[in-house]
Amino acid sequence: MKIAVLKEGAAGERRVAATAETVKKFIGLGAQVAVEAGAGIGATVSDADFDAAGATVGSRSDALNVADILLCVQPPEPASLVGAKKGVLLVGALNPLGDRARIEAYASAGIEALAMELMPRITRAQTMDILSSQSNLAGYKSVLDAASHYGRAFPMMMTAAGTIAATRLFVIGVGVAGLQAIATARRLGAVVSATDVRSATREQIESLGAKAIFVAGEGGIEGEGEGGYASEVSPEYQAKQAELVSGHIAKQDIVITTALIPGRPAPRLITDAQIATMRPGSVIVDLAVEQGGNVEGSVPGEVVEQHGVTIVGYRNVPSRMATDASALYARNLYNFLSAFWDQEQRRLVLPDDDEIVQGVRLTREGKVVHERLLTS
Ligand code: NAD
Repeated sequence: MKIAVLKEGAAGERRVAATAETVKKFIGLGAQVAVEAGAGIGATVSDADFDAAGATVGSRSDALNVADILLCVQPPEPASLVGAKKGVLLVGALNPLGDRARIEAYASAGIEALAMELMPRITRAQTMDILSSQSNLAGYKSVLDAASHYGRAFPMMMTAAGTIAATRLFVIGVGVAGLQAIATARRLGAVVSATDVRSATREQIESLGAKAIFVAGEGGIEGEGEGGYASEVSPEYQAKQAELVSGHIAKQDIVITTALIPGRPAPRLITDAQIATMRPGSVIVDLAVEQGGNVEGSVPGEVVEQHGVTIVGYRNVPSRMATDASALYARNLYNFLSAFWDQEQRRLVLPDDDEIVQGVRLTREGKVVHERLLTS
């Protein structure tokens, strides 16, 4: 089987879907690998590195013409795939719930699209989970971004010239990104608190040495939530949560928001009036900015100021750590494909009745087949 690694076309995307390490591993399975020239530059993987790993480096059309499997990070423009074989598999973060028209275009072009972000959250698929690998790095980077925009130190410092108080940092949304943000902020010496709607996160917050701030009484989401995800909470809970945030946020120096609900806009959790209660010089990082934002006034791709508070809304945070993000993403893709590799036939076999295959497959033989796209 021939695998092609495409150069990303989306603005600002620095990641790449394979590394020298995964190219070697694919070749070890008996595959041939073609890499579009320059594909790894943004992630510090040179054409020479790919070449040394055994890949053929060449033009996009050379890669497309021969490939049985195309690897990408973001969904490529359908027009940029002209020349690909009918029935070619396209594997990447294809944003199926956000851009359905593009998935239809893949289907019409005879491309068999597999969306890695729809990977089921089951134990067998943990090593294939691109949402976790990328969110983990985004959570880490969000704290560094906050620190770089904050004009003060994180740890308490007792110096000959006097004492500097520790930074107070509040994390809203304690999934993969939020947990890493807590751990990173603690390592830098901040006093950390955090909240979520899923009750299972209380213990996780406390185990990282942070203070759990929760709405008193019932109304949140029991345990881990279905599939580890949050759903919409009741209006009563939302009102209590807003009150809780209002009381807490005025005493914080930095707030990191990561709250997401799959398939819906991000919940709005911080209002302009709440921002006005924070001290000038405080920083908010809105990691949910591209999904609609948790923070009123945050702007995708921009750093803005409101009431003297800096609101950071960087897009595509994993791409800001492109080398590590690509290394983990590439391994997620390798772990997925190698799990379905038939050693004897030296090819990929995707069984129709497999939960993982059903979870990620979007198109088949010219049609959109994923149940979430058929019902939405
Ligand atoms: P996510 O990115 O979908 O959401 C981030 C967080 O925002 C979640 O914790 C969610 O509960 C929270 N949130 C949503 N609405 C909120 C609100 N109104 N107020 C406060 N918080 C709100 O979540 P994620 O990072 O993808 O992970 C969710 C969970 O899934 C984690 O506990 C993780 O451990 C688990 N997980 C399991 C597996 C697996 O079993 N294979 C893999 C990855 C993650």
